[in-house]
Amino acid sequence: MSIFTKIITGEIPSYKVAENDDFIAFLDINPNAKGHTLVVPKKEENKIFEMSREEYSNLMDFSYTVAKALEKAVPCNRIGMSVIGLEVPHVHVHLIPINKMADIQYIQKVKLSNDEFVALAKSIADKIE
Ligand code: AMP
Repeated sequence: MSIFTKIITGEIPSYKVAENDDFIAFLDINPNAKGHTLVVPKKEENKIFEMSREEYSNLMDFSYTVAKALEKAVPCNRIGMSVIGLEVPHVHVHLIPINKMADIQYIQKVKLSNDEFVALAKSIADKIE
């Protein structure tokens, strides 16, 4: 069972931003930039292009909803998106508010307190449409 499935089942906590029957979005615990969010299908699959076309399209659609809220909540030039998965073999889309290339390159990390994570997650969640 992946660490993200443990988040989905509630076994371990997360800073949740959005959820529906098939997907969950929560803040990355070790963010590249403030607002770095992960969008995860509840069905545990390893690689994004092993998903069915329909699951993939639905994941992108949910990511769109989350990205719109994220862009309203966190001032930035734009929302960058990437899919890596080398650390956690459970499909996830990284949505990252970026101002410069380094913000999406996984070469820098920002530290946030628990209170900052909580406030940030709420601020994004409040803007989900
Ligand atoms: P990757 O699999 O290379 O796309 O990276 C996995 C991402 O998941 C990294 O950015 C981690 O910081 C993030 N991550 C790992 N464990 C957790 C967790 N428990 N809660 C939130 N994010 C996590």
